[in-house]
Amino acid sequence: MKKIKRNKDWVQDYFFLIVPRPLKDELLSSWLMRMSIEYKRNLSEFISLFIWHEGNAISRTDIDFLYNEKLFNHLTQKSHLLKKEIFSLSLHSEEGHLFLCDENSLYPPLQIRKLKDKRTHNGLMYCPKCLAEDKISYFRKKWRYNFYNACPKHKVFLTDKCWGCYNKISLSKIKHEKELCFCYNCERDLRETVSLPIESNYEYGLKAIEWFERGLTRGYFVINKKKVKSVFVFESITYLRFLLDRKEKLNFKKFPLIEEYKNICKKLDRYNSKKTLFIKKEFILTSMVYYIFQNYPKILVDFSKDNHLTHRDFIHGFKDISFWYKSMIDELIPMKNKIGREISESEVLGATKYLKNQGKVVNQISVAEIVGCPFSIHKGFVKIYKKLHNK
Ligand SMILES: [Zn+2]
Ligand SMILES: [Zn+2]
Repeated sequence: MKKIKRNKDWVQDYFFLIVPRPLKDELLSSWLMRMSIEYKRNLSEFISLFIWHEGNAISRTDIDFLYNEKLFNHLTQKSHLLKKEIFSLSLHSEEGHLFLCDENSLYPPLQIRKLKDKRTHNGLMYCPKCLAEDKISYFRKKWRYNFYNACPKHKVFLTDKCWGCYNKISLSKIKHEKELCFCYNCERDLRETVSLPIESNYEYGLKAIEWFERGLTRGYFVINKKKVKSVFVFESITYLRFLLDRKEKLNFKKFPLIEEYKNICKKLDRYNSKKTLFIKKEFILTSMVYYIFQNYPKILVDFSKDNHLTHRDFIHGFKDISFWYKSMIDELIPMKNKIGREISESEVLGATKYLKNQGKVVNQISVAEIVGCPFSIHKGFVKIYKKLHNK
């Protein structure tokens, strides 16, 4: 008789008897949770029974971002679905289109919202109206994309909590045997959540979301009549949003939502716990990037000029810049700003400190290099440097 090799971690013997059909754009956690409910188990028990002895450990991770080939194989084998179908439920299926990362990375890249974020608290978000229209309620992958802050179909902002008990949405905590649209804690029907409508002046931002969504689906964007791989554009959103978020100082005159943006920044300064404002702000920042690419290259060039941003500002400090982004900046933004922007004392001090900490030579040339201006002809810089160094 053949000896059966047993793997002590993986439960190998049973196939799933009830397999819900994965729905369009469904998240792995949503599909697994629906299956667990069919079995009248919570997620942790279900995983322990059928997939992995330590179900509790897996159910506490961000299972939608977990990259585990064995897990995918197991689910394929036990569900009799195609591996392709199982893999498409994982956020990793967007790799190469939405983001790039190495396979062992535990945390999602910036293009995907973390499930726990102390600053914004928006983990798993949802559109109550989409849930209400579902024949079978389920959670979508796109609700975790950073650019997807609102639902273009229903013209509402997404929300991240149950408005009955104010708990954040967490599928893996569900213990009831109802559908996914009921809060795990108080069992309130999430479909009845009153959503924050998008006023007509905000509709520009919805166009942005639709444009990004279309680009992701096709795998490319068309910018200035040229095809650009979608992942390059999604990576550049991160850098550009960082540069654009200049609050009251932002000079971006013709952008349709500029007043709304400045008002939100002011309000956030005063009461920084208003989470719905964060969502609105992210929504506007995303549409700013859209605005740049719709009117390319003029808006980008104007933005850099009007805000005195140098080539260095666009490049420095950002990790893993794509060749496409770098070439765009090289082409549009001059390397050195000889006319000279305003340079402050604190910038020169900061650069000096930085060089000292790095154990590098501190002189007029090296400090100017860090500040990003010519060392001898920028009058403001020369004056400040002399004042600080020739006491
Ligand atoms: Zn919706
Ligand atoms: Zn609740």
